Amino acid sequence: MEKIECTSCKQEIPLIDPYVKFECPECNKMIYRCDKCRTFGHTYKCECGFAGP
Ligand SMILES: [Zn+2]
Ligand SMILES: [Zn+2]
Repeated sequence: MEKIECTSCKQEIPLIDPYVKFECPECNKMIYRCDKCRTFGHTYKCECGFAGP
């Protein structure tokens, strides 16, 4: 089974948990955010250096 990791807090996200995923506008890599980081509005930072709210 595929494992995903929150881009903000680096925690593994269980697939049964709610999370959001979207593509980095800079490099099109998938970015994942766990529900907690989404709720608290933690920033994420992509490998390419792109950061967002
Ligand atoms: Zn997170
Ligand atoms: Zn990127």
